[in-house]
Amino acid sequence: MSDQCVFCGIVNGVVPNTKVAEDDATYAFMDINPASDGHLLVIPKRHSTDLLEIPADDLTAVTLSAQRIAKAVVEELGADGVNLLNCCGADAWQTVFHFHIHVIPRYRDKTKDRLGLPWKPGVPGDAETISTIGGRLSSVLS
Ligand code: 5GP
Ligand code: ZN
Repeated sequence: MSDQCVFCGIVNGVVPNTKVAEDDATYAFMDINPASDGHLLVIPKRHSTDLLEIPADDLTAVTLSAQRIAKAVVEELGADGVNLLNCCGADAWQTVFHFHIHVIPRYRDKTKDRLGLPWKPGVPGDAETISTIGGRLSSVLS
């Protein structure tokens, strides 16, 4: 728990929010700047800064909660799809440094959906660079 952390404030009931679900380890609430109708955030109750720091049990609990909520946005809101998003680090768009997974319902009806892909799918990369980087990662992971 950090006194400065807005999401710890949400877990502790100090910061007003629209709660969607809660269990022993996780808390889910609506995002105040939604990318689509129903955009919400799932967080661990225990403070962790980001994906690199969160303990495995909290990560598991948050992920399972996100899956449960993803099913609900499809069934209850009629979403046509769902994106789960985690931003880890300021250069990866993280702005609140308490781990969270965005659950973003997606709609064919674009009046409900303002999210766009930030890169161009289908543009091939340099084959040698892909192979070199893959090899470096494989050597530290295997
Ligand atoms: P990030 O950019 O760190 O991945 O996402 C942070 C998210 O938290 C943003 O989508 C932002 O709208 C949301 N957010 C920031 N402050 C608050 C708040 O006080 N209440 C709620 N409900 N959402 C917040
Ligand atoms: Zn926190």
